[in-house]
Amino acid sequence: MQTDRSRSIKVGFIGLGVMGRPMATNLLKAGFTVAVHDLNRSAVTSLVGQGASDAGSIGGAASADVVITMLPDTPDVETVVLGDAGLALSMRRGSTLIDMSSISPVATRRFAAALAERGIAMLDAPVSGGFQGAEAGTLSIMVGGDAEALEQCRPVLQAMGKTINHIGPTGAGQVCKVCNQVAVAINIQAVAESMTLAKKNGVDPGKVRDALLGGFARSTALDLHGQRVLDDNFAAGFRVDLQRKDLRLALETGSATGTPLPATALIQELYGILAATGRGTLDNSSLALLLQEFAALRGKVAG
Ligand code: NAD
Repeated sequence: MQTDRSRSIKVGFIGLGVMGRPMATNLLKAGFTVAVHDLNRSAVTSLVGQGASDAGSIGGAASADVVITMLPDTPDVETVVLGDAGLALSMRRGSTLIDMSSISPVATRRFAAALAERGIAMLDAPVSGGFQGAEAGTLSIMVGGDAEALEQCRPVLQAMGKTINHIGPTGAGQVCKVCNQVAVAINIQAVAESMTLAKKNGVDPGKVRDALLGGFARSTALDLHGQRVLDDNFAAGFRVDLQRKDLRLALETGSATGTPLPATALIQELYGILAATGRGTLDNSSLALLLQEFAALRGKVAG
């Protein structure tokens, strides 16, 4: 439940895609005043129809108390924050930027430093939970940055997420997100390998999945992605291309700090094969599709 005081917070929202659109909708439902901006005009029109105002530009969204960005990748956030008409030049001293995109932790620290020079706070607050979590307002939000800034912004985050964890200083939220993606990708590969092994040995992979779900190997990936494998349903979901971007960020973060990530590197190559064979828009569970091809359980399916 939001208080009247929290509802008086004015929010600017930039990036109304798969995730940003339902997140902005939930802010409106919670009673916040929201000004929205996106390069895609139809996304803006849809939110205006729900009660948002059209900010018209990055600068138009920048006059809010809190500005949220939900953009695809690091260069997009760089343009919006540090570009000629960017937030660093247009946000008010004392206001806060919450970047909820999944981007580079290293670049995040650079953006936060540039904003701090102008008296603007920045929280990195990437999310897990997918489109379903964004719609339901149940995202897991991993926050890096100043604890006091987080407390001021908590009512805004609570309108979009159920679990809000303060991980540490600036960049820690993005480090947590790449850790999440590493764990998820390796888990999906594990599910893909065990189900392919079952099938190749003439054993019902559905029965194997049921048995594994009752034991130590139980996981969300086994539950959701395992079901996808059984259904032969590789329509995204979470696209291979976005997963590749996240694993690239993980590998860059590992490389910058001398952290070997051998399994992640291998899985990134497997995702690279999917992309190179025209399957970058399939679901990230398509690792199983590839293994079935390698194991001669199926011919190559066109993307
Ligand atoms: P998306 O591509 O659907 O949406 C991005 C939006 O940003 C688009 O509407 C685009 O027009 C807009 N945009 C891009 N550049 C812009 C600019 N310069 N100015 C204004 N608008 C601009 O992406 P998404 O799926 O919503 O993901 C956003 C972020 O959240 C990504 O970093 C992604 O990795 C992360 N994420 C996605 C999911 C998921 O399931 N899709 C889950 C968790 C995290």
